This record gives sequence, structure tokens and C-alpha cells, in this order.
Amino acid sequence: MANVLLIHGGAGSDNSFTETLNRYAENSSRKVSGNPLDFVVDSVRLMEDDSSFNAGTGSVKRIDGSIQMDAAVMTPNQIGAVSAIERVKNPVMVAREVMLQTPHVMITGDGAIKFARALGFEDYDPTTERTENIWKKTVDYFNGKEVELPERYSNYYKYAKIFGFPQAKDTVGAVARVDGKFAAAVSTGGSSPMMRGRVGDSPLPGAGLYAGEKGAVVATGIGEEIIRKMMCYDIYNRIGTKPLSEIVKEKVAEFGDVLVGVIAVSKDEYASYSNSSMATGVCTWP
Ligand code: ASP
Repeated sequence: MANVLLIHGGAGSDNSFTETLNRYAENSSRKVSGNPLDFVVDSVRLMEDDSSFNAGTGSVKRIDGSIQMDAAVMTPNQIGAVSAIERVKNPVMVAREVMLQTPHVMITGDGAIKFARALGFEDYDPTTERTENIWKKTVDYFNGKEVELPERYSNYYKYAKIFGFPQAKDTVGAVARVDGKFAAAVSTGGSSPMMRGRVGDSPLPGAGLYAGEKGAVVATGIGEEIIRKMMCYDIYNRIGTKPLSEIVKEKVAEFGDVLVGVIAVSKDEYASYSNSSMATGVCTWP
């Protein structure tokens, strides 16, 4: 098992997506060749184009009704990310261009949109009926007299648990080991309900993703907690100390009942784990 492409459909995603994700992983691994970055970007792009997932088409709305997306790619010593980007079809492809074509690590908001347009990424509305309905429910909850706004927006998820906000999940991510080299990619519409301008863990190296000489890691779940615990860098640092499957389990356990999940690949292993359901797909080849 020299090469592996492992992808996920988000912490909380239904395991019934496993077959689809296995197919996406296999499609990407058949189509692409050589560079691990191309494998992770291609598989994340397939998931962005699948409206079942909260990334690209199907990204959830902010409280104000807008859609802002975060995406990132990483290889050892190279990072490219976009945050709060709007009206593009494939944020992960813009993130890759940030890495390959600019001296920057991350471009955000208006600047990210302008950068994308300059490269020929067309205006695109990622709204779907599903996300429109999630948003309407959220607004209804906020307008309900019996519901008070939480003091700290970062505590939304606790609030959501108590009051039953429709929480959107299903961010997507991919890690790959190809010819002994690693890459990671991630894309999300964010963790609903959230304010306009909120940026989660996904585009933040060390938090939402990490790739180095020892492996690659991608996180999913409640971004604020993932950032506080530097989830991916911490897992990466532990690679080699014990089996990868134990490392990811141990890290997830640190989150208690806060929704999180992770996929990881090392020199000779791969592993995934979540404290909820999390659909994954994998393809290995010699
Ligand atoms: N981690 C993402 C965020 O907080 C959401 C997710 O993975 O479902 O933006």
C-alpha cells in the first residue's frame, strides 16, 4: 500500500455517503497522476460539486443569508488558503492558486474574490434549496421570542445543542500519500449558525489541516474548538509515537462531546476517527 488517498464528508455526515466517497477517491486516483496535491484538490473539488456536502455548491449560509467559504491546501512547507470567499464554484482550486501563484499564504474576503476573478473563476451562486431551508430555520430560531442570543458567538454550538439549532456540518477534506510525499486539502461553508466574517479552523494551518514530511492531517467539526486545540498540528507532532489510529482517537477524546473528526495519513498508515458519524472514502494503489 504505497499510495493512499483518504477523504471525508464531514463530522456528522451520514455513513451512507461512504460508497459515493469511495467512488470519488477512486475517480481522482485514476484521473490524476504524480503530485499528491493534485489528488487532494481533485477529490475535494468532486465533493464541492456534490451539493450534499457543506463545501462549494451546498455551502451553508451565514446568519445574514450570505455564503462565505473557506478552503486550504498544504504540502510540506507550502500553504495556500482562502477565507470568506464568495460566489465561486470551487474554493479549493482558488486556494491552490494562492499557494502556486502568490507570495501569500491566505487571501480573504473581497481580495480573494478579486484574485479568483482575475484567474478566470466565474461568478457562481453556491446556494441550494437544502441550504436555503437550513438558513430559514436558523432565522426562525433567532426570531423566536423564547431564544436569547448567546453572549459569546464562539459558544454557538453549545447553544445549538441546547436549543436545537439546525447545525450544518459536512465540510469536506482529503489527505494523500503519493510516492512518499504528502498533501492535505479542505473546503467548507463553515459551521452554522455563524456571523458573517467568521473564519473557522479549515483554512488555518495547524488547526484545520497540516502536512509535513511525516504525514498529512485534516480536521472537521466545530472550528472554534479545533483552533483552540491546534488539532492537526498536534496530531502531526505525535506521528511515530504510537499507531496512527490511536493518536487520532486520543486527540478526538480531548474534545469531549464537541463534534469533531479527523483523517490522517503517515509514512505507512492511514486513519480516520470522529466522535459522531463521519463518511469517509479511501483508495490505495501500489
Ligand atoms: N470545521 C468547519 C468549520 O468550523 C466545519 C466542519 O468541519 O463541519 O468551519
